[in-house]
Amino acid sequence: MMRQYELVERVQKYKPDANEALLNKAYVYAMQKHGQQKRASGDPYISHPLEVAAILTDMRLDESTIAVALLHDTIEDTTATRAEIDELFGEDIGRLVEGLTKIKKIDLVTKKAKQAENLRKLLLAISDDVRVLLVKLADRLHNMRTLDHMSPEKRARISEETMEIYAPLAGRMGMQDMREELEELSFRHINPEAHDTVTKRLEELSRRNEGLVKKIETELRDLLVANGLANAMVKGRLKSPYSVFRKMQSKSLSFEQLSDIYGFRLLVDDIPSCYRALGIVHTRWRVVPGRFKDYISTPKQNDYRSLHTTIVGPSSQRIELQIRTKRMHEIAEFGIAAHTLYKDGANTNGDGDVLSRESSAYSWLRHTIEALAEGDSPEEFLEHTKLELFQDQVFCFTPKGKLIALPRGATPIDFAYAVHTNIGDTTVGAKINGRIMPLVTRLTNGDEVEIIRSGVQVPPAAWEEIVVTGKARAAIRRATRLAIRKQYAGLGHRILERTFERAGKVFSRDALKPALHRLGQKDVEDAIAAVGRGEMSSLDVLRAVYPDHQDERVTVKPAGDEGWFNVHSASGMIFKIPGKNKADLADGVEAPPIRGLAANVEVHFAPTGAVPGDRIVGIMEKGKGITIYPIQSPILQRFDDEPERWIDVRWDLDEANKSRFAARVLINALNEPGTLAKVAQTVADVDVNIRVLNTARVAADFTEMALDVEVWDLRQLNQLLVQLKELDCIATVKRLYE
Ligand code: MN
Repeated sequence: MMRQYELVERVQKYKPDANEALLNKAYVYAMQKHGQQKRASGDPYISHPLEVAAILTDMRLDESTIAVALLHDTIEDTTATRAEIDELFGEDIGRLVEGLTKIKKIDLVTKKAKQAENLRKLLLAISDDVRVLLVKLADRLHNMRTLDHMSPEKRARISEETMEIYAPLAGRMGMQDMREELEELSFRHINPEAHDTVTKRLEELSRRNEGLVKKIETELRDLLVANGLANAMVKGRLKSPYSVFRKMQSKSLSFEQLSDIYGFRLLVDDIPSCYRALGIVHTRWRVVPGRFKDYISTPKQNDYRSLHTTIVGPSSQRIELQIRTKRMHEIAEFGIAAHTLYKDGANTNGDGDVLSRESSAYSWLRHTIEALAEGDSPEEFLEHTKLELFQDQVFCFTPKGKLIALPRGATPIDFAYAVHTNIGDTTVGAKINGRIMPLVTRLTNGDEVEIIRSGVQVPPAAWEEIVVTGKARAAIRRATRLAIRKQYAGLGHRILERTFERAGKVFSRDALKPALHRLGQKDVEDAIAAVGRGEMSSLDVLRAVYPDHQDERVTVKPAGDEGWFNVHSASGMIFKIPGKNKADLADGVEAPPIRGLAANVEVHFAPTGAVPGDRIVGIMEKGKGITIYPIQSPILQRFDDEPERWIDVRWDLDEANKSRFAARVLINALNEPGTLAKVAQTVADVDVNIRVLNTARVAADFTEMALDVEVWDLRQLNQLLVQLKELDCIATVKRLYE
């Protein structure tokens, strides 16, 4: 625990003529008033105001601010009064302590209108004298550091308030270190699992890269010194778990994809040296494009100034660099406090950065307060103020008025998952401000969102592309994984039933249990799903259950010859396919029924065809004329950069046209007798011709077939796809475009 004399020594270090008597008097008064009071940790209460005061000495604040810190909880928690403090310490200090007492009563995690009103009160209180804010932030920081002793409810509430209000406020006031520590501590309590995971991975990484930070520091410094920047200082560090986590969320990256987790600061003497250092670094290492930012020529609104760049640095690590002067660094660390901190007149020697008497962060605060005085409604005020504080977030509300903070771009699905995973999983629709809106709608500030749910529902896998929060994405992934497993288990069960039946046995889950270890599987469901996925053959299962069983090889045998003719597949296999007449097969389309072509141009169709009803495009190919592709064809990407080769074409068919058009269908079928015949029969049933059939055994129980067919149009092709899908010997069917 910090001692009183240590505190005085700290102040004297940066302000030798500090009013020691004032500090002692404030300490003794607070000590007496708090008396036997204890903190939740069991420490004497006085340890808290002492630590808060100590935090402020890091910012080199004057003795009256330190005294306010010592007194900050006396009016609220003891018999002390404003009048008494005024009398003992002067009105200035009394006013500040009262201001802090007022803030303490403001609940910032509450309903919308209330929250706006309370935020307004908070800003009013701190705008009175910015020192109130400094003491408040130090107070909150110490409370966050000692939060473990609080009840879980209190921890959650305080952390939420810190993350939503105080951390951004610290950032807005330019106090980056404060903001970072507040965020970090809140993150730990708000999302302990995420915090744990990220922290462990970071620790693992720093273990794996032991000594790397030091090595890069040395290499950077040596380089700068060798190039004439003798006073350059280099400080490297692993980024904080929260900043890593936020990056993962905002950029939808996994931990493995995050490469720049090291940050380095280069501190130099003056502004020309900043640009010089930048030049030196950029000459020596490769720059990651798009990452350079010059906040020296254009400072941030909170007075932050620095050069930012990312390089592929020593050891081929991606590293982020911040280059700034020592004075800029001070402002980056202490923000608004850097303007109020005690100065012994040494800071007027121009290192180039202009120090205005009032920082722009403070003028932002004043400007905001002025807007307040003009009598905006609380909601409007929230719009203007809070939103400026939280530019990267949107704030929405449940019908009951609970505030849900989401990253910008969030959808009702993110909202639903933020409320509860169960709600997310069962979402089918959403009302935004009372109106039913599409689930892809981007939420905006102040939206009230009501989630419409169904009893059972698996979130569509496509949602994963729509959502922006990690929580929603993880939950959707988990739910779809489970659903897919269930689907495979159903398929696997059917395959096993048939294989067992052919062997004269009956398949049951119970029979499978004793054989699990022989199959290297842990549970019945997994084993069945493995068969469904084609990872394990049904015959292996049969042999595992009945080790004595003598299996005859099960092979696909073509049926009788009548009414069949041969089709050669590319792999050289011959299949017998029912068909009406070989002459039905068209060899090619003589005059393509396509509009938009010049006369005498050679025209081909894509290898996987195009059929009337498809949206089509023509691509000019040298020496080959024009090839017609359906718009879905992935090959078209190759011509993205050559717009001159694209020809606008349309189908031009009259009623009487009897041409057939080629298309390719990909089937994944169960490998069992009769499958091929069923496929062929279905094709014949819808009056489609088969031109070529390729098959490949992809797994023990599955066969993949590529079917080149000829159809009248898209309607007929779709009819074929639907009917094939209905065959229970077929796992998947899709049209193939190349
Ligand atoms: Mn306190």
